[in-house]
Amino acid sequence: MTKANKSGREADPRRTIPLNSVTWRKLRAAVLTEEPLCRHCAARGITEPATDVDHISGDPSDNSRENLCPLCHSCHSIKTARDHGKNVAMGCDVNGCPLDPSHPWYRRSDAVLAGQQAIERQKSRAADGNRPSAPPSFNADC
Ligand SMILES: [Zn+2]
Repeated sequence: MTKANKSGREADPRRTIPLNSVTWRKLRAAVLTEEPLCRHCAARGITEPATDVDHISGDPSDNSRENLCPLCHSCHSIKTARDHGKNVAMGCDVNGCPLDPSHPWYRRSDAVLAGQQAIERQKSRAADGNRPSAPPSFNADC
């Protein structure tokens, strides 16, 4: 296969380390040894071995460890498709939770974080022997 005929990831002219090179195989093995589970699956509470190494930024010329992410093949295919502008629908698991790790359900909003921090403050006050503050009163005239 000539360079002009390459397709897919090998065709990206920004790639500085060819996928079939010893250098890439060593780098890939080091990443998978250091972090053997798929990071996207782990974020959803799923234990899945990582088989692929993804360039997080989508830039294959940045081979710094911070830009390399271990993923299972399924997650890597989805991420790569999205990096190339394709719309990927994933569905949900048997519990109804979205399979997409970037689904809004898995993002913590500022309101949720503020609520959790308020709960923690009340718990720490209660642990110190102080009673939690009284619940807010409601105005019946509204
Ligand atoms: Zn995965």
